[in-house]
Amino acid sequence: MARLQRQIVETMTQSRGLKMTPQRRAIIDYLQSAHDHPTADEVLQMVNRKFPMTSRATVYNTLNWLKQEGMVKEVFEAGCVRYDPNTEHHHHFVCRKCGKVEDVERNVIGKVKICSLPESQKVEVFEVTLRGLCANCQKKR
Ligand SMILES: [Zn+2]
Ligand SMILES: [Zn+2]
Repeated sequence: MARLQRQIVETMTQSRGLKMTPQRRAIIDYLQSAHDHPTADEVLQMVNRKFPMTSRATVYNTLNWLKQEGMVKEVFEAGCVRYDPNTEHHHHFVCRKCGKVEDVERNVIGKVKICSLPESQKVEVFEVTLRGLCANCQKKR
């Protein structure tokens, strides 16, 4: 699985003469271990616990930079942009109760049959969002 790794980011920033600040490091550390597709605000909250005064701009700039470098992917869900350290092609499971977004491995979903798509649209990949209840919300029922 291709996942964001701080080591790789460090090497990359060095080779491009970019500065790796403690705040940036904390953002990457948090993201690489996150499995819940955090929003920029959630990243900001987490990093602020360690480095109070981290600005929203720092978080947004770092996330944008990581995205441009292909180290994180954006996931759009319920009007929010979430950040995904898993850059491998995969699907998602969204809990309809708590809104949690979990990864679903690519091979869990087989072929899909696409009916009557215009010829002008050439499909290269497909991403599926499965919806239901997560483990926690099933327990609470
Ligand atoms: Zn849930
Ligand atoms: Zn994901």
